[in-house]
Amino acid sequence: MIDVDAVTVRFKTAAGAVDAVRNASFHVAQGEVFGLVGESGSGKSTILRALSGLTPNAQGTMRIAQHEQAARKRDVQMVFQDPYGSLHPRFTVDQTLREPLRISGIDRHEERIVNALREVGLNASFRFRYPHQLSGGQRQRVAIARALIVEPRVLLLDEPTSALDVSVQAEILNLLKRLHQERNLTMILVSHNLAVVGFLCSRVAIMRNGEIVEELDIGRVRAQQVESEYSRSLLLATGGYRRKAVEVIGVDASL
Ligand code: ADP
Ligand code: MG
Repeated sequence: MIDVDAVTVRFKTAAGAVDAVRNASFHVAQGEVFGLVGESGSGKSTILRALSGLTPNAQGTMRIAQHEQAARKRDVQMVFQDPYGSLHPRFTVDQTLREPLRISGIDRHEERIVNALREVGLNASFRFRYPHQLSGGQRQRVAIARALIVEPRVLLLDEPTSALDVSVQAEILNLLKRLHQERNLTMILVSHNLAVVGFLCSRVAIMRNGEIVEELDIGRVRAQQVESEYSRSLLLATGGYRRKAVEVIGVDASL
């Protein structure tokens, strides 16, 4: 579903050119959840932005569903870390969900808005609220509904739970897991938390300084069988994988 081949993203800065992503390649099958892990600044968000067409200066090849970036725009949707920043403060939930339908020329707005809210666990009473009248978790549910309402084939999630309280993180992760199962969505999940990645993903790419240094099946992450010293240090930073999965996000990643 997603083919990334030798992608480099170079930014020109006052201090010279910076390769935010260098020669990155990976493939994600239809219905798979693929994880991108790495320390801050390693290029994870840049890859997601390039895939969603927000980065015009990407070199290399990116294909979604076999189409060379000519995939319908709505096929690839993104959910960002900060649900406070990503929702328009003066739009009601209804307006937030109506906008992408209008842009993509999709019909039956009323029905789709009510269904999208129900799918993310919000009842109709939320429809005419503004972002400041919602909790962080509720805002992230609205952001997920906004992404899914146009029926994308690919969902890109950039640290979708990092800004949330621990108990709310588990709710959102469970929601994402259910949506993935119900819709057979292809997803890429960026996280610095291997417990979060382990809960949702089947494969993980480890990034460092713009490069993919290792790609692992999730079983190897769980067994802590990682090749590079850097990957090991990321594992250690998460403080032991299983314990974290259960204690910190309240989900059993061995399921
Ligand atoms: P991550 O999401 O893994 O934290 P990013 O993809 O946001 O990392 O950033 C990777 C690198 O690219 C960082 O060094 C960042 O400063 C740089 N970078 C990202 N966007 C830009 C930009 N628009 N202009 C210049 N440098 C950028
Ligand atoms: Mg980032």
